[in-house]
Amino acid sequence: MIHNFNAGPSILPRQVFEQASQAILDFNQTGLSILEIGHRTPLFQAVLDEAIALVKELMQLDSDHEVLFLHGGATTQFFQVPMNLLNDNETAAYLDCGVWGTKPIKEAKLFGHVNVAASSKDRGYTYIPRDFEIPADSAYFHYTTNNTIEGTQMHFVPETTVPLVADMSSDVLSRVMDFNRFSLIYAGAQKNIGAAGVNMVVVNKNILGRVTRQLPSMMDYRKHIENGSMLNTPPVFAIYVCMLTLRWLKEQGGVAAIEKINNQKAALLYDTLDSIPVFKPTVDKADRSKMNVVFVMENPELEKAFLELCKKEGMVGVKGHRSVGGFRVSLYNALPLGSVKTLVELMQHFALKHA
Ligand SMILES: *Cc1c(COP(=O)(O)O)cnc(C)c1O
Repeated sequence: MIHNFNAGPSILPRQVFEQASQAILDFNQTGLSILEIGHRTPLFQAVLDEAIALVKELMQLDSDHEVLFLHGGATTQFFQVPMNLLNDNETAAYLDCGVWGTKPIKEAKLFGHVNVAASSKDRGYTYIPRDFEIPADSAYFHYTTNNTIEGTQMHFVPETTVPLVADMSSDVLSRVMDFNRFSLIYAGAQKNIGAAGVNMVVVNKNILGRVTRQLPSMMDYRKHIENGSMLNTPPVFAIYVCMLTLRWLKEQGGVAAIEKINNQKAALLYDTLDSIPVFKPTVDKADRSKMNVVFVMENPELEKAFLELCKKEGMVGVKGHRSVGGFRVSLYNALPLGSVKTLVELMQHFALKHA
């Protein structure tokens, strides 16, 4: 039995793997594979329409918000956002809380000015800054809702009158939020919504059309809206896997229902870490991520032994990111509570042996 704690690409629901494999052989009893149908056929249009409708329903979006499925991963959004929202002479405010906070700042500087409203670099990105100021004349405020590598998560939405832009790649649809508060949300699919190769963008159409620069068509959100995410051949299979995963999420009871289970998983793991002195969580308690749990060991020499035990017991993807070390356990929507229970038992056994 394998327990998959990978940080991304990561575990998806079993039924999604089964349905996706079936669709490769015979899509909806057409005798055709999902991999060989035209993207402008009614067959694929129905998939795309359902995926968009499910996002709107699960996020309870109002009619100003459009849903797009684009290429290039979240990393393309790091520059597509300022390209569309920031004029050369304007300033956008950014929050820097880790690797995924720093990269979009670097890209935005290619298109305008950046004001880093706050950074947690001083303590190795182990906390989320509070009481920072967002200047009222900022073109927008950008932040990362969940810092996948460092294991911190924003448990509040910053108060501001400027348009909010968020990279939600690693916690989108994992908890209830007022998604309509955001002018733009983006998320690479490979953590909570599907297979790698597609990027979900939710954009309030009222913020578009302000920049004066010329945009290549593929970079222009308005062109994608006009063309229904089909300016060119979209990543058909990746969108299909998203649609199946979104269907699964709806069947589970939607975002509020999955949030309850996500809370249970995170509480079980953090309670265990807090109660066993062998393990040492690395980030401030108030800012702990419910998606990516990062910890090291009191005695670093034991880390290898624990890693080997995990490997032997079928625990996949628990090694920490190379920039942080230690361990990172990802608890995305599709990870069953049972996998966390099994891991916690293993930790308790290990601690008894090495106390
Ligand atoms: C994984 C991740 C990214 C990078 O996504 P790509 O699709 O590889 O470009 C960006 N931001 C966050 C928060 C992530 O977790």
